[in-house]
Amino acid sequence: MYWFVEKHREDTGILMGAKKTWTYRSNFQDIAVLETDSWGRVLVLDGLIQFTDRDEFIYHEMLSHVPLRAHPEPKQVLIIGGGDGGTLREVLRHPVNSVVLCEIDPMVIEVVKTHWPDAGPVFQDPRVRIESRDGRDFLESTEDRYDVILVDSSEPVSHSRSLFDPTFLELAARRLRRPGFYATQSLSVFYRASFIRELLQRLRSLHPRAYVYTAPVPCYPAGWWSFIIAGNDETLDPRTCRAGTIPEVENTRYYSARVHSAAFVLPRFLAAEMEP
Ligand code: SAM
Repeated sequence: MYWFVEKHREDTGILMGAKKTWTYRSNFQDIAVLETDSWGRVLVLDGLIQFTDRDEFIYHEMLSHVPLRAHPEPKQVLIIGGGDGGTLREVLRHPVNSVVLCEIDPMVIEVVKTHWPDAGPVFQDPRVRIESRDGRDFLESTEDRYDVILVDSSEPVSHSRSLFDPTFLELAARRLRRPGFYATQSLSVFYRASFIRELLQRLRSLHPRAYVYTAPVPCYPAGWWSFIIAGNDETLDPRTCRAGTIPEVENTRYYSARVHSAAFVLPRFLAAEMEP
């Protein structure tokens, strides 16, 4: 048994016993796959868990269905990061016309196709175009606009850092159609409250609406994760699921119309921490 440890702070973290491991080195990062009994297969980038078979559905459903079900007619979608294909899989359950997946590291996609053969077909869907480049470079170079932009990035360290900076957020705001939603993962509720608050304030300065919502993701630091959704149409509240405009997404395991609204209800301590 190989013991994998991800430290979340100096004195705490997560421990997984892997029966088998595979390791790779891309131009951007160390990539590892762990085979475990309790979590299934696990993807690790630069020592940080990206997803596990056991709980990935929660993160991917919540990042994608909340904006796609809040939008009246999402047709053009951009995913930045997301090379594991989980967010792409969920987006493709909607009647979208096109999805651009802008993933900086093509090796992540190749490793996922090798170790998760079921994930392969989503990358081949005719609606999907893969751009193997940095998300900020892509936004700087494109004139296209999107109904929904999703940021499914790794922790804001090294090449992911730029996906949370003010220039990137402004570029993304300009590339949204109206109405349009921007949704991003925004780290651990317990450990990164000040990061979430700052990102929320930045997004509020760019969009008339921006809200934090949360979901449990047991393999992530402290097990409770945050997302932020921002919208450019004041009349469209992303905290409400647009029943009737798009058929209910079927066979979700975590997301539902009721979970959609409930995810925006912040417990008192967190609501207080989000105050400017
Ligand atoms: N849900 C995951 C998490 O929070 O750990 C993120 C999953 S997904 C694997 C993250 C992807 O973002 C990685 O494959 C990484 O290569 C990609 N990525 C990081 N920085 C990027 C950038 N600047 N532009 C495009 N993709 C980027």
